[in-house]
Amino acid sequence: MALMIKTENRPGPDRTLHLQGHKLRELLPAVYQNSPFYRRKLDDCGVDPCSIKTFSDLERLPFTTKSDLRTGYPLGLLAVPEEQVVRIHSSSGTTGKPVIVPYTANDVSSWAEMMARCLAMTGVTGLDRVQITPGYGLWTAGTGFQAGVERLGAMAIPTGPGNTEKQIEMMLDLKTTVLIGTSSYGLLLAEEIHKRGLSDRIKLVRGIFGSERWGKKMRARIEELLNIETFDIYGLTEIYGPGIAIDCPEHCGLHYWHDHLLFEIIDPETGRQLQPGEQGELVVTTLTKEGMPLLRYRTRDITSIITKRCPCGSPYPMIARVLGRTDDMIKIKGVNIYPGQIDHVLQLTEGACSEYRIIISRKQGKDSLLIKVEGEPAFDFGKISMQLQKNIKERIGIIAGVEVIPQGTLPRSEKKSKRVFDCRE
Ligand code: ZN
Repeated sequence: MALMIKTENRPGPDRTLHLQGHKLRELLPAVYQNSPFYRRKLDDCGVDPCSIKTFSDLERLPFTTKSDLRTGYPLGLLAVPEEQVVRIHSSSGTTGKPVIVPYTANDVSSWAEMMARCLAMTGVTGLDRVQITPGYGLWTAGTGFQAGVERLGAMAIPTGPGNTEKQIEMMLDLKTTVLIGTSSYGLLLAEEIHKRGLSDRIKLVRGIFGSERWGKKMRARIEELLNIETFDIYGLTEIYGPGIAIDCPEHCGLHYWHDHLLFEIIDPETGRQLQPGEQGELVVTTLTKEGMPLLRYRTRDITSIITKRCPCGSPYPMIARVLGRTDDMIKIKGVNIYPGQIDHVLQLTEGACSEYRIIISRKQGKDSLLIKVEGEPAFDFGKISMQLQKNIKERIGIIAGVEVIPQGTLPRSEKKSKRVFDCRE
């Protein structure tokens, strides 16, 4: 039971926030002392670190944003002497400068512990063989999963990304029981295995997927084709990497590690704290991170803190599956849409598959929206199209064109799927 924290009485969400509030009394003065970046930031806002004593006091602290981290490139947020840094990781940097995250030996260890908890939560044991398909190197995912698998005592099969031929060969020869990757790559592998008639020969029991939002239909298709149970894992490079939350076999939310991380939900427009249960942007404060501690980091991920206790009995609180990112929002014809809403509508539409593209264009000064979606072979594509248009109108309040195409025709990805194409200039 080394992976469980000791809790005499399991705290509900309110109690969790209260307990975490207490930790702030020690955390704030320490961060103020160790981090020149936060010392300046708090001084600029006139906040006395000793005055932050409760969860609601946090509201007086400024947020930390991705742009703060970019401005601090490469090591401006370092909060320990350099000799204590044992590793760095970096975000992909697709927009602007990447973010460099320094880790101390304790940080590397805490992360491995959190990842091992994630794996244990899904039922992985020392007897499992875990194929790790995310990238290694500066990218956090591969290394993070590997450390968790080793900490748990399972067997890591570190294939890394791509090379589907090799992936399937290793999966068959080594009798992989757990597959880790993006949901897009999970789908690609599932379809390929199915196409080659290998479904009966693979030994997979579970899949752990993350790094992008995936709808219920996609999840159901991966589970059906591979005959496995899937789990949604959450994390971000700025806060260790993947492994800070995961869903358990009850699948009613993602448990997070509140002994290491404090989660708040805020209104992304006003920045005000929201109540447990309300949906908004997740803001994370690290409680034990040394190399680059973060206070009130804005993740831009939309979720909520779940107020009910999980039937699985875990003492760890939960967030809902991430609905999308605040910067995924598309404004069209004056209506704000999240791609997650399209996922939801597809779920309600019989015969529509999980894979789709959202294409936005402007014709004669007017926005137009086209949804290209794959249809199941047994269904009439005309009917799917009509039903989907009706559902989009009713649920999202917008008129969209729909084009239904045969299943398997949209490109598959070994990384994350790009689903939104905004062609407006
Ligand atoms: Zn649970």
